[in-house]
Amino acid sequence: MSNKIWLSSPHMGEAEIDFIKGAFENNWIAPVGPHIDAFEKDIENYIGNDCHVAAVNSGTSALHLALILLGIGPGDEVLCQSMTFSASANPIVYQGAKAVFVDSEEQSWNISPLFLEQAIKDRIKKGKKPSAIIVVHLYGMPAAMAEIVTIAQNYEIPLIEDAAEALGSCYKKRMLGTFGDMGIYSFNGNKIITTSAGGALVSKNNVWIDRAKFLATQAKDNLPYYQHSTIGYNYRMSNICAGIGRGQITKIELRVMQRRNNFEFYKKHLSDIPEISFHKEPDADYHSNRWLSTILIEPGTVTKEHIIATLAKQNIEARCTWKPMHLQPVFKDCPYYGEDIAEHVFENGLCLPSGSNLTGEDRELIVRQLRTCFLNVSNAAFYTHY
Ligand SMILES: *Cc1c(COP(=O)(O)O)cnc(C)c1O
Repeated sequence: MSNKIWLSSPHMGEAEIDFIKGAFENNWIAPVGPHIDAFEKDIENYIGNDCHVAAVNSGTSALHLALILLGIGPGDEVLCQSMTFSASANPIVYQGAKAVFVDSEEQSWNISPLFLEQAIKDRIKKGKKPSAIIVVHLYGMPAAMAEIVTIAQNYEIPLIEDAAEALGSCYKKRMLGTFGDMGIYSFNGNKIITTSAGGALVSKNNVWIDRAKFLATQAKDNLPYYQHSTIGYNYRMSNICAGIGRGQITKIELRVMQRRNNFEFYKKHLSDIPEISFHKEPDADYHSNRWLSTILIEPGTVTKEHIIATLAKQNIEARCTWKPMHLQPVFKDCPYYGEDIAEHVFENGLCLPSGSNLTGEDRELIVRQLRTCFLNVSNAAFYTHY
């Protein structure tokens, strides 16, 4: 359906085609080649803070490599934000380690420093200090990094930032992904920039990044024949995908601005509806890329299911917020620290169409349709029940 308004669709340009053409002309098609090195440099220049970058084939594989580099394995516990996409937690299980989930704080929707410290203390008391912390910057919103970095340092636990959704977001004017011992980005098709599929591992520690590149290309020893002294992975980004990335990253600042404008538009045209509250930046330290514009609907009024269905009738895609990991059947046996804040965001949260390629007409149509849900509250309740 060509006229469908998607939640977040790829926003492609001419530069990408030129880079891909270049790759074809020079026959650099494999997961090795000049675009990969150049794309890594582009990301390094953009995020700054002396970070090094390994481009890989997904955000999930970047996170998996981070855990491998920290030596996490069976018997280890990893603390992970519960309110997230499953890809934040799955690599813990790939490594045979145990995931321990932590609730969010109300203001950022990200891991609560309070519950994080509670969890660390309790795990230590139970006999096992956690081996890593995975913090997520959901929908581009920074987590409370000052507090979280302090906790990680005080307890000497490595910190991994899942910034899959947060390229271009800042906390205290510093790029997200550069605070932790390691950070990851995703360039999946729906993220703020895309390489069709792809991701990156970033760290100040160049030894880790070199090791990540080695592991991601099947861990072949530096010899004229195929010798392997450790288990490798086929996780490297292809030169074609990196070419797309080189074109995409030239526009990153514009994309952040466009997505922030989407949020401002929704806020301007929906704030008079008392049932809607916006996911605000808690204070001036927080600068979100607004990967997705998200809202909460007051419980007991119009349901999010009704809104999603109403928009779908007009060929507009909206989605529920992530379902917390501690409520997932697959993670039901994992420990959890917190209350019901993540659950509340899941029960009442809604992600609105947020692409940087939305037109003014698209946004007006979305707002008009959304408003109809609220102007007929009694009807809305009726339709969700029957
Ligand atoms: C998209 C995403 C990932 C995974 O990235 P892929 O490139 O799709 O593997 C991980 N964590 C979060 C929070 C994400 O949104």
